[in-house]
Amino acid sequence: MGAAITPVFTNEDGKLGTLGVSRPLLEGYVRQRVLALPNVRAIEQCDALGLVPSESRSRVWGVRILRRAGGSAEEVLEADLVVDASGRGSRALKWLEEIGYAPPEEERITVSLSGVTRLYRRRPEHLNDAKAVLIALSPALKRGAVMVAQEGERWTITLIGFAGDSPPSDEEGFLAYARSLAASEVYEVIKDAEPLSDFLPYRVRANQRRRYERLDRFPEGFLVFGDAICSFNPIYGQGMSVAAIEALDLQQELRQGTEGLWRRFFRRAARSIDNPWQIVASGDLRFPEAEGRRTRAIRFVNAYMERLHVAARYDPVVARSFGEVANLLVSPQSLMRPGIVWRVLRGNLFNSRPTRAST
Ligand SMILES: Cc1cc2nc3c(=O)[nH]c(=O)nc-3n(C[C@H](O)[C@H](O)[C@H](O)COP(=O)(O)OP(=O)(O)OC[C@H]3O[C@@H](n4cnc5c(N)ncnc54)[C@H](O)[C@@H]3O)c2cc1C
Repeated sequence: MGAAITPVFTNEDGKLGTLGVSRPLLEGYVRQRVLALPNVRAIEQCDALGLVPSESRSRVWGVRILRRAGGSAEEVLEADLVVDASGRGSRALKWLEEIGYAPPEEERITVSLSGVTRLYRRRPEHLNDAKAVLIALSPALKRGAVMVAQEGERWTITLIGFAGDSPPSDEEGFLAYARSLAASEVYEVIKDAEPLSDFLPYRVRANQRRRYERLDRFPEGFLVFGDAICSFNPIYGQGMSVAAIEALDLQQELRQGTEGLWRRFFRRAARSIDNPWQIVASGDLRFPEAEGRRTRAIRFVNAYMERLHVAARYDPVVARSFGEVANLLVSPQSLMRPGIVWRVLRGNLFNSRPTRAST
């Protein structure tokens, strides 16, 4: 097995550790660990097609699969528990409908987000050895960036645009876009760093949450997991953490046996999802172009969060408190502590908001 991945950087008090690693390295490592478990077997190059219900349709006892090798025929894989962890594109709604179950309610916050990622060679002199830079979007300037150091002395740099503002995928346009951001760090690196990859564009149209916990009827022996329950705007970097927390939720619930597991698991997972969902709602619904349910409480929180982001630019205590919430270490309510509220007020009285630089 390969060497353990350790956090490569932490904040000043050592509480916030961040893995500065690429997705293939992280996933490869997790995969190695999982496949090393004696009772785990992976069937590769294979698609799940649907559920196999019991005669009464009250439970699921397997999944229909098709191997991708030419000439394969559909097979049934029997299981005590089938878990749909097939991500944002999950077909669980269709699978449930096929065996006579209604779909869960769905909440959406549409965001229309575009991102373009590119890798660059990282040099020791870049930004006094800083390991990560986040330039937050704001309703005044719907552009931002995330820059994180990763293995192999690389930066992964993603430029982001919201509601029609979209980073270009060409040399000149990418650089000009970086230059137009509210802070200059990313531009300072990109302007003369060696590119190590092509431009990798992606789009996200909505945060999407399926409320399985509100269903009255659901088959035993089946669960839905991770992005298939709730997928977030990726700029908040929460999806993998939430999936990991749900794994712990499932472990806890399995200790009570499998009777009524779906109801207990979905309720528990919903509580785990509430905080990250609130973070996304308070972040994305600050933008008038985002569509979603804006209660009075959300409007209030959004107005406050916009000011908090301004203060966080200049006040490391506010930035760290936000980082702890964004990393799911503490609840969003902690940002309403009197000490933080005071810093937010002070930060807004003495500092101005970002303005758009011309591209
Ligand atoms: C650009 C971007 C950046 C992100 N950055 C971060 C980050 O920094 N931190 C973070 O925590 N999260 C991040 N996320 C979110 C994170 O990727 C997801 O939340 C996480 O991968 C969800 O895990 P999952 O297992 O539910 O689904 P997925 O990771 O999507 O995995 C689903 C798997 O199921 C397979 N599959 C689908 N259908 C079938 C089928 N019918 N049969 C068999 N297999 C099937 C797919 O091939 C895939 O391998 C980011 C997302 C994006 C798009």
